[in-house]
Amino acid sequence: MHEAPVVADDPLEGALEVGDEDRVDLLVDRHSGGRVRHVDEHGGSLPAPDRPAHRFGDVDELGVARGREAELLHPAYPTDRVASEAPTSRELDDFRQQADRFIAAVDEEYYLHFAGHKPTLELEAIYADFEELTRVETARRLEGAPTELWRFACESYLGGLTRSHQERLAQVETELEVTIAGGQIPYRMLRVALANEPDRARRERLELARLELLDERLNPLYMEAALIDREAVASLGAPNYYELYKRFGFGLDELASQCTALLDETESLWVKAGDRLFRERLGIGLADARPFDVPRLLRAPELDVSYRPEQMLPALEATLTDLGIDLRSQKNVHLDLEQRPGKSPRAFCAAIEVPAKVMLVIQPIGGHDDWEALFHEAGHTEHFAHTSEDLPMEAKRLGDMAVTEGWAMLMQHLVDEPAWLTRRLDVPQVAKIANAGAVSLLYFVRRYSAKLLYEIEFFQSDDPASMRPRYAELLTEALKLPANPESYLDDIDGSFYVTGYLRSWAFEAQLRDFLRGEFGNDWFARRSAGDLLRELWSLGQQPTAEALLADVTGARLELASVGDRIREGLAA
Ligand SMILES: [Zn+2]
Repeated sequence: MHEAPVVADDPLEGALEVGDEDRVDLLVDRHSGGRVRHVDEHGGSLPAPDRPAHRFGDVDELGVARGREAELLHPAYPTDRVASEAPTSRELDDFRQQADRFIAAVDEEYYLHFAGHKPTLELEAIYADFEELTRVETARRLEGAPTELWRFACESYLGGLTRSHQERLAQVETELEVTIAGGQIPYRMLRVALANEPDRARRERLELARLELLDERLNPLYMEAALIDREAVASLGAPNYYELYKRFGFGLDELASQCTALLDETESLWVKAGDRLFRERLGIGLADARPFDVPRLLRAPELDVSYRPEQMLPALEATLTDLGIDLRSQKNVHLDLEQRPGKSPRAFCAAIEVPAKVMLVIQPIGGHDDWEALFHEAGHTEHFAHTSEDLPMEAKRLGDMAVTEGWAMLMQHLVDEPAWLTRRLDVPQVAKIANAGAVSLLYFVRRYSAKLLYEIEFFQSDDPASMRPRYAELLTEALKLPANPESYLDDIDGSFYVTGYLRSWAFEAQLRDFLRGEFGNDWFARRSAGDLLRELWSLGQQPTAEALLADVTGARLELASVGDRIREGLAA
């Protein structure tokens, strides 16, 4: 969630995931049109990398909702022309080729910058070279193309329109800082500072200062971008961003009803388990907790002694070896291990060429969340590195992001898996770690469920500013923590990426069950399980998470499985 260079995420995906604040920690950036997005919510004990990029995605995906004037100005795009003028196969191949080179160039630039090889992140020239990709005519022309290509063209067009906003947001974020007793803290470091701040009163002051800057300096830019997006969506022939994504095949309503059910079904569980973890780690109950306590809750410094920096990479290598993968001898996987100034402190994956050149960038700091980030990124890395090179561009680089996120989650969750901990790590309290991991997953799945419900309403609303109290209402209800209404714009993930994470958690829960049934509780140590994973990874992003799961297990992808997985962890 959150953004570094590249991993995969969405349409153009090179996602970068770099850690950040309190998001799921992945930066996934998708660059369609320059979006890099990030979702990351892990603790964030690490200094955040300087990622001018991460806002790109957030903004350009701020989406669009409708606007009456916009509709008047842009009559619905005549869909009947698609049938008579569907793009030719030659046009499609040209588009694939262009998109492929564009994504490679952007991902390489992210890699160079976030790995510390290059102080600046220069995307302008790349966008200039591929200007054709961001034209509205291109997006309209591709309406009859394979959906992933059409979506990429639309997202590139929308992203291109707000690129200057993204850059200004990045610029402002870089310049802002908070003065607090003891010194000045850059805006982007505030979340990290919260995670590392044991003093609650200081956490509160940091948060208030952050929210004030967000509201005064950044929200006006987010709003401008949101309004531009709204109008632009109309020019793509859709009444709003939500409807546009339904046309792309996103099952938003079905997923939303699963989210509502999960929120209901796990509410008392969250109240009880969340309260217990807050008391245990911070000495306060859930009823007294505030959002600024969450990064500290997830930081868990007491686990640092078990999750040591020097053991991270050896543990990953040994885990992959058990699955039949020799990380060091993979010619298409480039391990970037050197220390250098400016390098992102959090692991990230940049799939510059799929599968020929996948970068896994590491600068081990240690701690539970750093291990999670490394294993998560390694999941993306192995997925892209094993993707068949014979697939079409859209199956290698675009497609359903829940698939690559699912592979990343499968690896990430090993770090809390009792059987894996017993085998790989000398930790005293395996059950306690599994239990805390379940609480953390519960927090995130409830938070993302509420985010999806909010985003669906936000993008259909006639007046985005009116959604501010609604954001706080939905998030507060889900988390039982008084959410900050100031985040009603910056907490939106463009391209409904939130659906990728939600579905990836279900994918992970159900696939893990299957793997345990098939290969035993220590499936991750079975060569035959590795053979199966390699076979599935070779499919790239071609099948959706639903199709992949049905094919392997015969089951339907269901969010309820995440609730079952959480209950299992809590019972550990
Ligand atoms: Zn990811």
